[in-house]
Amino acid sequence: MSELKICHLYPEVLNLYGDRGNILCMTKRLQWRGIRAEVARVGIGDRASLADFDLFFIGGGQDFEQEVLLEDLKAGKGEEIRAAVRDGKTFLTICGGYQMMGHYYQTHDGVKCEFLGAADFYTVGGDKRMIGNYAFALGEDSGGSTVVGFENHSGRTYLGDGVKPLGKVIRGFGNNGEDGTEGIHDRNLFGSYSHGPILPKNPEFCDFLLETALCRKYGAFQLEPLQDGFEKAAHDSVLEKVENGTAG
Ligand code: GLN
Repeated sequence: MSELKICHLYPEVLNLYGDRGNILCMTKRLQWRGIRAEVARVGIGDRASLADFDLFFIGGGQDFEQEVLLEDLKAGKGEEIRAAVRDGKTFLTICGGYQMMGHYYQTHDGVKCEFLGAADFYTVGGDKRMIGNYAFALGEDSGGSTVVGFENHSGRTYLGDGVKPLGKVIRGFGNNGEDGTEGIHDRNLFGSYSHGPILPKNPEFCDFLLETALCRKYGAFQLEPLQDGFEKAAHDSVLEKVENGTAG
């Protein structure tokens, strides 16, 4: 039986706006196809061999929670996370968890958190929060679907030269409200500002991530289609509201 080992990193501190729903969504979409999903929660102070996992999820958190994690990252987990990214493991990281994968996050009140530098980008906090339902179009190499979600961040993220965003903003702020980019896709590291959680209303993107992790583990791997008309209808209904400006 095929299997994915999923690591939920820092579930006790990085879990805003139902981000944990991403774990439930991935687990269910694997199980419905007869693929085993094993989920481990790895928090502050926990020592686990991160090399044993196939897929990682990190949710969002406020500035305070991000500062709390710095010691734990320095104590060894940071290096293991970088190694897993280099090794092509699949990562879905959201908002505060996404910011953590970059070089640093400077909060709007001037605290500089030196983060992992697992990919080439950085984040600077501003006075204005970027809040609302939004939508973005994924690049072809991230499956090419359209994603709907909810963003709430003061951090503005800037990608290094040659680093690809996850997608292009259709409506909303995305990385910084300036350059039309949203998130990052570097090797198999995916970062996004989309809470909500992101995956239940975006089943195509969920399957793309699962297939990425399965292909890395088993070589070619194609997921069977599911009957997910309900999820797709939820996606389409939000997209319509976001596009015509009635989603809030
Ligand atoms: N603290 C970060 C910011 O405001 C992340 C917030 C979040 O994860 N929603 O930019």
